[in-house]
Amino acid sequence: MEEVGTGLLDRLDAMQRVAASAPGGPLLIVAGPGTGKTRTLTHRIAYLCAELNVFPDQCLAITFTRRAAEELRHRLDGLLGPVAEDVTVGTFHSLGLTVLRENATAAGLPADFRIADEADRAAARAEAGDDDERYVALLRKRDLVDLDELLTLPVALLKGDRKLVREYRERWKWIFVDEYQDVDAVQYELLRLLSPPDGNLCAIGDPDQAIYSFRGADVGYFLRFSQDFTDARLVRLNRNYRSSAPILAAAVQAIAPSSLVRGRRLDPARLDPEAPLVGRYAASSAYDEADFVVRTVDELVGGLSHRSLDSGRIDGRTTSLSFSDIAVLYRTDAQAAPIVDALARANIPVQKRSHDRLRDRPGVPAIARELRHAGLDGSLAARVRQAGQILAERFAVPTLDGSGAVRPEDVRTAVDLLTPLARRCGDDLDLFLNQLATGAEVDALDPRAEAVTLLTLHAAKGLEFPVVFLVGAEDGLLPLRWPGSEPDDDAVAEERRLFFVGLTRAQDRLYVSHAGRRARHGAERDTRPSPFLDVIDPALFERLDATEPRRPKDHQLRLI
Ligand code: ATP
Ligand code: MG
Repeated sequence: MEEVGTGLLDRLDAMQRVAASAPGGPLLIVAGPGTGKTRTLTHRIAYLCAELNVFPDQCLAITFTRRAAEELRHRLDGLLGPVAEDVTVGTFHSLGLTVLRENATAAGLPADFRIADEADRAAARAEAGDDDERYVALLRKRDLVDLDELLTLPVALLKGDRKLVREYRERWKWIFVDEYQDVDAVQYELLRLLSPPDGNLCAIGDPDQAIYSFRGADVGYFLRFSQDFTDARLVRLNRNYRSSAPILAAAVQAIAPSSLVRGRRLDPARLDPEAPLVGRYAASSAYDEADFVVRTVDELVGGLSHRSLDSGRIDGRTTSLSFSDIAVLYRTDAQAAPIVDALARANIPVQKRSHDRLRDRPGVPAIARELRHAGLDGSLAARVRQAGQILAERFAVPTLDGSGAVRPEDVRTAVDLLTPLARRCGDDLDLFLNQLATGAEVDALDPRAEAVTLLTLHAAKGLEFPVVFLVGAEDGLLPLRWPGSEPDDDAVAEERRLFFVGLTRAQDRLYVSHAGRRARHGAERDTRPSPFLDVIDPALFERLDATEPRRPKDHQLRLI
């Protein structure tokens, strides 16, 4: 545990300190990538508790993903020690679930309501056909709640019950929301109910990283924060601690045409005069691009034959890079295949995040059900294994609602997938089931895994890596274009923000590549580099492709 009290804010710069120690009332922190948002947020909570006599149980910190919530919780533990447990930290969905569990009867639900999984939803849909009301009625009859309803039901409940609103406002006097640029209408409504207009709501985010409008997020809520909340205080963080100066300069130029932040500034805290330029590689094909990634990873980590972790070289300097320092980012999942293949052929370990939800995997619902019903003992991880054994022993296992059968191999895979989450949840079955219901992903990335990380640009948000490859920087992929449709201005702006998110994940070394030909939608086509590259000063790039075309002819001449 770090020392609380004097010195607590010493690890922050001047503006971060202003934000962390601002008095109560609405507070909007507009902060670009790498400016230390999480650091500032956690220090603000710690400062309020240590210096202003705020009780940790009066604090509610909301993020968008389970991974971000875990990170916040971890950092709060470090700053506050055991009392950090009293801070409520969670995602919007887990917050909605808490409100519903505490008021199940008032919301017209039985105390032991369950969140519908894929099988439940499919069964209700099949029965209800197109009739949305009827669909909900069927879920309700089975004591089930749909994922969307984790937000809509609490909002409806609170809207009709001023007393309940007052109780929650009394409980959570201090509310913190990270990545506020990504709130959608229902989440915003929930926040308005939980926080009075002059409440202690601290919203933090970056409008230029708003990349979820396709899911209903609306950056408009961020931009009109000071209209919605009385006398809102605004603090800007402009100092970027993450990226080298050339990487940051390229990113700032790339976002400029679409920036939603007036006078966007990002000042590099890192001013190494030796910092390498942004590597740019024009590949002939997706396979050539994949080979480029493999070759470069090989050089950086120090030769695949001996795999020494401390003999890599960047621009003539010895580095101590390992595979876990490297990420490959792309716009669409389909781009991963040739890169995964090429890395695998070179025996380079890879980890790739999947968007599949754990609860939707075959075998998983059966194990959750078995856990609930069978009298198992031991730790949660042990109970998951026992439930798997019981299920695997019965050959084809009908699930409890009769909606299908489970294959033993699915059960075994499901046990492997569930065990890490079970371990993280200790012995808390309710926590485990809630995590499962509210969106745990199949393969939450392990930051310590000794492997190159492959991610879509969307999934890379909030993360940082010493080395980043941004592949497929081509017109049609960035901005993304579907056959027969042109993205409108808003769509292009969002794609540019996505490109900005990608560039700003890099700390020391950034490589941007594009292929001259690529297969998409079943046909191979010639492609052009992304127009987003055109606004970046060419002097910030180092061309890594052979400027001269390769010379197969030389070989032929020699052969003759
Ligand atoms: P993003 O918008 O990409 O999510 P962020 O604003 O959340 O970025 P962080 O991930 O919190 O940024 O911080 C970026 C990096 O800068 C981290 O490695 C963090 O430790 C470092 N950092 C932040 N503030 C400081 C500081 N005052 N001194 C030194 N390093 C800092
Ligand atoms: Mg962040």
